[in-house]
Amino acid sequence: MRKKIVAGNWKMNNDLNQTIDLINELKELKNIKDVSVMIAPAYPFLKTSHDLLEDSPIEVVSQNVHQKSNGAYTGEVSIEMLQSIGVSTTLIGHSERRAYFNESDDVLLAKTEFALDNNFNIIFCFGEELSDRKSKKHFEIVKIQLDNTVMKIKKESWKNIILAYEPVWAIGTGETASPEQAQEMHEFIRNCVENTFDKSISEEVSILYGGSVKPSNANEIFNKKDVDGGLIGGASLSAKDFKLIIEANSSL
Ligand code: PEP
Repeated sequence: MRKKIVAGNWKMNNDLNQTIDLINELKELKNIKDVSVMIAPAYPFLKTSHDLLEDSPIEVVSQNVHQKSNGAYTGEVSIEMLQSIGVSTTLIGHSERRAYFNESDDVLLAKTEFALDNNFNIIFCFGEELSDRKSKKHFEIVKIQLDNTVMKIKKESWKNIILAYEPVWAIGTGETASPEQAQEMHEFIRNCVENTFDKSISEEVSILYGGSVKPSNANEIFNKKDVDGGLIGGASLSAKDFKLIIEANSSL
């Protein structure tokens, strides 16, 4: 059965004390046995976060990773470094990495292959811009983004992939895709995976929705058949809101 997941992307927010406080509040969350919860704090606080959550099912994940094992890449962080502090999952391809750090599909493919070949799990993010949706090219763009990256991955690696559909026009804007828009795109993505690989893979891969998910809209979105959870930005910075969003994905 597909995993239900809620992941919080804290981006470049929270200093050390704020990170610790937020984690301590999240640790109070009990009884959510059917939802995997992940948080992605900033790099300097990953080890502290991981240690604080040692006895908790909440997984600490990285927001990014480099595609080389080591070397003269000033400012970058490697898979091996992350593994050495107990982190084994990373986001790849967030729209902010694509837009502000010029991460192309080729770079994202290199990161994806390197991570998966080194026993890392990935949450692969993708999604169309507002202009793509307005010109009704959203399905086409999403297919190209997938074809250039994860569709080139070995079949055996798919057990380590989570997909996150994040329409760029809905990220941090307060504008959310309607539950119907999310469902039709998630169904399309699942069909793309089935057509390139097979049904056993497409039925098993968790596909998260990201883009202004809040306590008030989470339930409706997560209730859709092909939406397995969410990647949450702004609302994951409030323990109260993030907990409500996690609870919205639980069917217990
Ligand atoms: C994100 O950055 O992945 C995201 C979904 O942000 P927000 O929830 O703030 O739109």
